[in-house]
Amino acid sequence: MATLHWFRNDLRLDDNPALQEALQGGELALAYVIDPAFWQEDRWGHRKTGPFRTRFLWESVADLQRAIEDVGGCLHILEGAPHDVLPTLMSDLGCQVLTAQAEHTPEELDAELAVDRAVASLGGHCRWVEGLTLYHLEDIPMSLDALPDIFTQFRKKVEKGSEVRMPHPAPESMTCLEADDLGELPDLASFLKRHGMALPVDDARAVLPFRGGASEARARLKHYFWDTEKLAVYKKTRNGLVGADYSSKFSPWLANGCISPRRIASEVARFEDTVEANDSTYWLVFELIWRDYFRFVAMKYGAKIFHKKALKPDSPNRGTQRHAFEAWKEGRTKDSFVNANMRELARTGFMSNRGRQNVASYLVHDLGIDWRLGASWFEHLLLDHDPASNTGNWIYVAGVGNDPRPNRKFNTRRQAEMYDGDGKYQTLWSGDALELDVR
Ligand SMILES: Cc1cc2nc3c(=O)[nH]c(=O)nc-3n(C[C@H](O)[C@H](O)[C@H](O)COP(=O)(O)OP(=O)(O)OC[C@H]3O[C@@H](n4cnc5c(N)ncnc54)[C@H](O)[C@@H]3O)c2cc1C
Repeated sequence: MATLHWFRNDLRLDDNPALQEALQGGELALAYVIDPAFWQEDRWGHRKTGPFRTRFLWESVADLQRAIEDVGGCLHILEGAPHDVLPTLMSDLGCQVLTAQAEHTPEELDAELAVDRAVASLGGHCRWVEGLTLYHLEDIPMSLDALPDIFTQFRKKVEKGSEVRMPHPAPESMTCLEADDLGELPDLASFLKRHGMALPVDDARAVLPFRGGASEARARLKHYFWDTEKLAVYKKTRNGLVGADYSSKFSPWLANGCISPRRIASEVARFEDTVEANDSTYWLVFELIWRDYFRFVAMKYGAKIFHKKALKPDSPNRGTQRHAFEAWKEGRTKDSFVNANMRELARTGFMSNRGRQNVASYLVHDLGIDWRLGASWFEHLLLDHDPASNTGNWIYVAGVGNDPRPNRKFNTRRQAEMYDGDGKYQTLWSGDALELDVR
């Protein structure tokens, strides 16, 4: 039986369970789909995928294409709704099975359902394979219904009762079915223009010149773990704001699937065996467990986490104060620490975890604005946007998610004193006015 593997947020050959499944079958074909839904405007008027994210995605797909060709295969690049273009390619190539990485959030599940139906109408079937998390869904020692609403309880249970599966190495060779026309990635500038956007401009103040792709992810890991051994001090530096190495910066590559969390964890274990095991090496995996947790929360609660009051129906009503919201986006609030972070985000597509917590708290608790507006702006800009992590963190800070403490309001002035005592970060990102022509 011939199988078509559809690359989604799994833009890598290494440790890719859905691809591994496709490789077990007979003949193989590979495809990536440029789905126009990614560039639609959401209900708040923001285009879901902004220029920084689009560029990172383009780079990631191009890198994947090169890696596939290096081992003898080929990648089809299709443009259109997945439920239209994938079954057509399957018919052309005579594929009966489609494999893809399983997603768990409403829009992604709707796309799966539509593909399922279209493939079934051709007499084929789909296999949705888990591959996003560190701990496999089947290995966590509880049912999703019994997933604790408190992170620490979840973490202790998985650490005690589950093992992280070993990563699969990338295939060394492959032969692929090939249509007459493989398609190609559109020119980035023209593509962005078609969607009313311009090419992103690099800012020298960015923490990193982030470039997409599995090779870049591997290079970043090599730098952070092996060349500089910054992993050994991660716990002390992780609340930083300035520079490349205060934290791993793995998130954009994880969000696009350029590297798997299991590969990172196995490299941490290798570092612990050969260099040093300490609370920092543990803490990086601890943070990956947070990422898992928000993913499992998304699976447990489905569409509920995307609602205004998410998991706390009795929480206060918050509005959409448009002027205050625009000022927040453009870094024109009364708070210079918040402003610096919002400028960094708009100019680079990245913001530290410390910054994110502060600007999110400020939007919700100081300005009284509905968290969903902030999450939508993050989705447009963040290179590492991930629907489960973004929503999970926003509802947590907004006090409508998984937090036992009723009030998550940050004192942003106090935070600025603690984490930017010398004002270096605020100075770095002060001054230039932002003219946002991003929607
Ligand atoms: C309001 C808000 C929105 C956020 N939105 C996103 C998002 O869309 N995508 C995203 O990946 N992270 C999100 N985060 C979490 C966190 O800020 C980023 O993962 C982190 O800043 C990325 O930098 P890093 O890779 O250097 O992280 P490191 O500190 O080096 O951590 C290593 C990895 O652990 C994971 N991780 C760390 N902290 C968290 C966390 N709080 N939640 C989930 N995973 C975590 C990430 O995959 C990260 O790459 C959000 C946090 C907040 C407060």
